[in-house]
Amino acid sequence: MKLAGKKALVTGASRGIGRGIALAFAAEGADVAVGYRREKHAAEETVQAIQAKGRRGFAYAADVRDAAAVRAMVHSAHADLGGLDIVVANAGVPTRFQPLHEVEPSYWQRVLEIDLHGVFHTVHAALPLLRAQQSGVILTISSVAADICGANGGPYVAAKAGVNALTKVIARENAALNVRCNVIAPGLIKTDIADGMLEFHGDDLVKSIPLQRMGTPEECAQLAVYLASDDASWITGKVFRIDGGAW
Ligand code: NAP
Repeated sequence: MKLAGKKALVTGASRGIGRGIALAFAAEGADVAVGYRREKHAAEETVQAIQAKGRRGFAYAADVRDAAAVRAMVHSAHADLGGLDIVVANAGVPTRFQPLHEVEPSYWQRVLEIDLHGVFHTVHAALPLLRAQQSGVILTISSVAADICGANGGPYVAAKAGVNALTKVIARENAALNVRCNVIAPGLIKTDIADGMLEFHGDDLVKSIPLQRMGTPEECAQLAVYLASDDASWITGKVFRIDGGAW
């Protein structure tokens, strides 16, 4: 039980990697608040799975583009859980595959608002609580796309590179108050996002991964458990790539 008694909020936990992290946290003894945008039924299923592990779970709808809604979610989670120790800013969307000169400015804005500003809104709402108690862990989820900088992914690459940089700033600004902040940067993980990428790129994408398969949300979640736990007590401001050797 690496997270016994801890209280965690995971955004985008109705599905995919966020769901995997929420369930792994519960399996390690944490109570978990589940953030989602519109898949209420899926979020409630995550909550039921948390409860089946003997932990408390709550679900909150909040679009991470909406600063006020995110603030309300963070404060509701803090009140319902009776505290907040771990915040995972995971919610995100993929990008359409197109060269930058074809990207509509409104589409660029949409991706940046969810994948970068959404992380800012989540961390911004949680930091005063963590700083006041002088303890806490923040995990952000970026992507190895930020390192690979592949063609046709401009808005996503820029947003995720922004998440990497922002996380390092947050780590420096809050380390003296015992708040740690690290990035998990996944490669291709078997979720709805990966299904979309495979449709576009075909199976060659999987063959290009040295370990010859996609990762799973559960594998990402084990890294998140480690980074959220006291085992990682001297680790902050780092980007952890989990990608089967792809980058
Ligand atoms: P997913 O299965 O599509 O799940 C996305 C989650 O984010 C859902 O819970 C969704 O909520 C939520 N979400 C989406 N837009 C939101 C918004 N505007 N406000 C609040 N919540 C929102 O995605 P995933 O593959 O697990 O990805 C999770 C994170 O990992 C993302 O940041 C993604 O960029 C990153 N990542 C994924 C991969 C991969 O291969 N899968 C690789 C690298 C990085 P609803 O269910 O309510 O829609």
